[in-house]
Amino acid sequence: MKKIEKAAGFMKEHSELFQCPICKDSFDQVDGNSLSCINGHLFDISKKGTLYFLLKGTKNEYDKNMLSSRFNIATAGLFHPLLDELYTSIAEKQTGHTLDVGCGEGSQLDYLTTLGLEGKKIGFDISKDAIQLAATHFSSAFWCVADLAQSPFASAQYDTILNIFSPSNYKEFDRLLKEGGQVIKVVPEKDYLIELRKLFYRDQEEKQTYSNDVVIAKFKEHFPKLEIKRVKYSFELTPALFNDLMKMTPLSWGASIDSKEYALTHPLKRVTIDVCVLIGQK
Ligand SMILES: [Zn+2]
Repeated sequence: MKKIEKAAGFMKEHSELFQCPICKDSFDQVDGNSLSCINGHLFDISKKGTLYFLLKGTKNEYDKNMLSSRFNIATAGLFHPLLDELYTSIAEKQTGHTLDVGCGEGSQLDYLTTLGLEGKKIGFDISKDAIQLAATHFSSAFWCVADLAQSPFASAQYDTILNIFSPSNYKEFDRLLKEGGQVIKVVPEKDYLIELRKLFYRDQEEKQTYSNDVVIAKFKEHFPKLEIKRVKYSFELTPALFNDLMKMTPLSWGASIDSKEYALTHPLKRVTIDVCVLIGQK
């Protein structure tokens, strides 16, 4: 079956997971490759089987090169030990529907599926290029371009919200979650990519450190029933993967040209992943 037909079938069968981002009413018709709400707002499914729900174009900082570098290093396993840990937390509690907020190029949701993640899986990102990449490589989830500020997702339908290295909208998470559902948020800890930070910011010690106290406090305000885990490991880099790492990370945006040149001639053999996993229950 073609991707576009598969996506239309998914929308027909699971329209309850969505809402019209314009009027917030439900979608009641899938006609060919078009989706329409009860007030007649239309959205077309793309050839790749994705939906574009943004009401106005947005700019984001991730260009195609960054995304394909992230794809390379993520599929090479940079986040696999972290995702293995997350999978345990999800599988312990439920097998319901998962929404991956800011899913990027889709590799994390796809990897969780290979581990056995069940239920319906929807990944969305504000970046159209990211969703194109996800839809090209992975058929494990339904992919769409969307923004939580104009949400195309229906209330109280989701059991797990994944929020991995992406911005949060806690009010919206609360609306989307079923009673008893959970948000799993991943934020960097102080040694996250520490070797790379030291390489980029040799003369600026203040940029070598990082604290997420504010993020944790804010999360706690919204989800007082909270569990915190720290996941830390080292990942081996080939020269090609080191190049991808340099390209994919927003850290490099703030680094000077000199620092980047220095880094290129001093490639890292390993890099540390150090993150805090926040699991909040509704
Ligand atoms: Zn509508």
